[in-house]
Amino acid sequence: MGHDDVLHRAAELAGSWLRSLPERPVGVPVEPQALRDRLDPTLPDDGADPVAVLDRLVAALEPGLVATSGPRYFGFVTGGTLPAALATDWLVSAFDQNPAVAVLSPAVAAVEQVAAAWVLELLGLPAGASVGFVTGGQMANFSCLAAARHALLAGEGWDVEADGLAGAPVPTVLVGDHVHATAVQALRLLGFGARRARRVPADDQGRMRPDALAAALVEVEGPVLVCAQAGEVNTGAVDPLDAIADVVSARERAWLHVDGAFGLWAAASPGRRPLLAGVERADSWAVDAHKWLNVPYDCGLAIVRDPAAAVAALSVTASYLAVGGRDPSALTPESSRRARALPVYAALRALGRHGVAELVDRCCALARQAADELARCPQVRVLNDVVLNQVLFRVEDADTAAVVDHVQRDGTCWVGGTTWHGRPAVRLSVSNWSTTPGDISRSVAAVTDAIAAVSRAG
Ligand SMILES: *Cc1c(COP(=O)(O)O)cnc(C)c1O
Repeated sequence: MGHDDVLHRAAELAGSWLRSLPERPVGVPVEPQALRDRLDPTLPDDGADPVAVLDRLVAALEPGLVATSGPRYFGFVTGGTLPAALATDWLVSAFDQNPAVAVLSPAVAAVEQVAAAWVLELLGLPAGASVGFVTGGQMANFSCLAAARHALLAGEGWDVEADGLAGAPVPTVLVGDHVHATAVQALRLLGFGARRARRVPADDQGRMRPDALAAALVEVEGPVLVCAQAGEVNTGAVDPLDAIADVVSARERAWLHVDGAFGLWAAASPGRRPLLAGVERADSWAVDAHKWLNVPYDCGLAIVRDPAAAVAALSVTASYLAVGGRDPSALTPESSRRARALPVYAALRALGRHGVAELVDRCCALARQAADELARCPQVRVLNDVVLNQVLFRVEDADTAAVVDHVQRDGTCWVGGTTWHGRPAVRLSVSNWSTTPGDISRSVAAVTDAIAAVSRAG
């Protein structure tokens, strides 16, 4: 059959990429124009053999590929790809199922329900909550906040889906001072306005202060939307969710959302669970599967306590869609989409309850190891309490940007720069199933070598 040769070639190419991950330079800067030139940028008049297309494409991409799913990529929060999740993701494309409507793929609709129930159980969230399989944390935040917008305005007798926001009794929005940019983006897209979100002061780890939230709410009348966070991107800090839930639940018309893109997975570890105490009291939760659960991009989960609010905000209505029951598209902003629940199911099946907890605990232990080893370098100051998988540090008496640049060019590992309390800092995130203690030691050595080299040069 026509597919076999090219799929076998894809498996070979994927295999050699994956085998290269542990030792290839992680991500060295390249010239964008040179990469475009390698892609034969003139639109071809005639077609080509699929195997030849693959071979040329991969050869052209090679210098610009970054080993983000390798064991020593510590930038942003990227996760990795578990073998079972990756292979299942290939099948998602091969099966080409569209879960928008249950009749298009009863199999995928069933997988969504099973995987959703597993996620809720693992994270300790209410079993009756709805789970929309969206593209990532950004759209999870958007979908949850759309449900919030619906519910808060319906409570005021306003039908926002029909009438929009002009003239509406718009809720007051409060976010932590360290809110993730994507939650703000969601507020923008939903018409709340980025600038109108009031910022609640945070403590030294970036956690929203419940006393400051209570103080901010004293003057506020009408409906309120509060966006809390589990997992600050620099420090990994989790907002004090129980105390925040106390403040929010003392009000009548209020919705508490938790952006837990990576941090929410800590709830799957019995040892870390106390950090997230009270998380189940929120009204909605955004979490990524493509970060700490280590499924391939793109997969996030929009979880809403009251499924009716999610359906009201997000379902598509069209005469030909009225097929009875709830279609998966009722819980996401998209209509057609990938069967992205399949890799989630496969990852959870491959890991099991204990495997997820172990993955979380292992990444946290490796972050602790990195912090301890970094702290032995006299020029390094670790800035955060390493409660999860993030390490934030400052380099003293050397140009931080130059150190980060040196590390990235060296290619042993990849760390990114950030700003913390107005000063440059470096962040290191451990979220990959394949990272070992040896990878951490090697990477810390690369960082301390870079500090020494930059100090000598400066
Ligand atoms: C990564 C992240 C997001 C955005 O997730 P995407 O999957 O990149 O859309 C949102 N919030 C937090 C806290 C994150 O770490």
